[in-house]
Amino acid sequence: MLITLALGVLLLHAPPILCVLTKIVDLTWDFSNETIHWGDITPFHYTKIVGNEHDKGYWYAMNEFCVGEHGGHTHFDAPYHFSKEGWKVADVPVSRLVAKGATLEVSNGTKLLLPQHLEDWVRANGQFEDNTVLLVKFGRSQYWPDKKKYVGVDSEGNWDFPGISAEAANWIVRSGKIVGVGVDSLSIDPASSTDRWAHRILSKAQIYQMESVKMLEELPAKGFTVVALPMKLKDGTGGPLRILALPKMANEHDRGYWYAMNEFCAGEHGGTHFDAPYHFNKEANWIVGSGKIVGVGVDTPSVDAGSNGDLMAHRILSKAQIYGMENVKIQRVHSGGVADEIERRNRSPVKNFGSPEKFLVKDF
Ligand SMILES: [Zn+2]
Ligand SMILES: [Zn+2]
Repeated sequence: MLITLALGVLLLHAPPILCVLTKIVDLTWDFSNETIHWGDITPFHYTKIVGNEHDKGYWYAMNEFCVGEHGGHTHFDAPYHFSKEGWKVADVPVSRLVAKGATLEVSNGTKLLLPQHLEDWVRANGQFEDNTVLLVKFGRSQYWPDKKKYVGVDSEGNWDFPGISAEAANWIVRSGKIVGVGVDSLSIDPASSTDRWAHRILSKAQIYQMESVKMLEELPAKGFTVVALPMKLKDGTGGPLRILALPKMANEHDRGYWYAMNEFCAGEHGGTHFDAPYHFNKEANWIVGSGKIVGVGVDTPSVDAGSNGDLMAHRILSKAQIYGMENVKIQRVHSGGVADEIERRNRSPVKNFGSPEKFLVKDF
């Protein structure tokens, strides 16, 4: 029961499991007359002006739209929105609008982003990199376009959407790495906030904000690019935003050749893998041993037999700078020298350190 509970907690707090972004993800909700709206400013309003076959025989369509800079739609808050000295939309350097992406996913139901969440992210993923856009995923996107659910209503009928605490906003500023923050909620500040500290603290530090970012698809914790392009309103305090997440690098190189590169995430010790001596010997530096055997591979999950709880084989081999390889695919050879060679090696003293199907690699 306890284990189940612990596992449940682990899963709730698990970071996004996607390691690498392999396609472009659109993080923008459609702008339409159905777009969720809040606040005392014009909702997105779309008017069809013309859409028909022209007298002169060609198709001709044109619309117009009207919208407040800020509302429920996917939009950008320029620092000027809450800081008199802050950048207006067109002043934000484009170098900050194309930035490294980081996703911080909090468990569904979390109402307030706290410094603890940011510290947990750093513990799992390392420090934030320079020029990072932080996307905070509260899990609200699943409710779009149901306004009542997206906004959330508490037991007294008050709005109840999540946001960023003043303490977390200060943490973000102090990190010195983050240039923009996006949330999949109506506002950077939670519904419960009356002082709007997150807006004020971030704006004061020239950190732009993005609200109602569409976060339906899984995103990696890091290792992708964010392109956040608000309409370039010269005096804008904010405005409609198109935001995309892009794979880090898989494109035509700008010098004209194809260039592709991926990364993968895996534990060091699963599947067919290598045990460096450092695994069990913290003093180890990699020096080629002077003995005959430099490495030991086995076709079982561990160099130690399952019954060997104190992992003596790992420890003794590591101490002698002998590396281990586990889950090695060894196909049996029933004739010829290779089988004999394996058999001969299996008779060596090292045999006792491993499981029966041992294969010793010599420095040929
Ligand atoms: Zn806004
Ligand atoms: Zn805002």
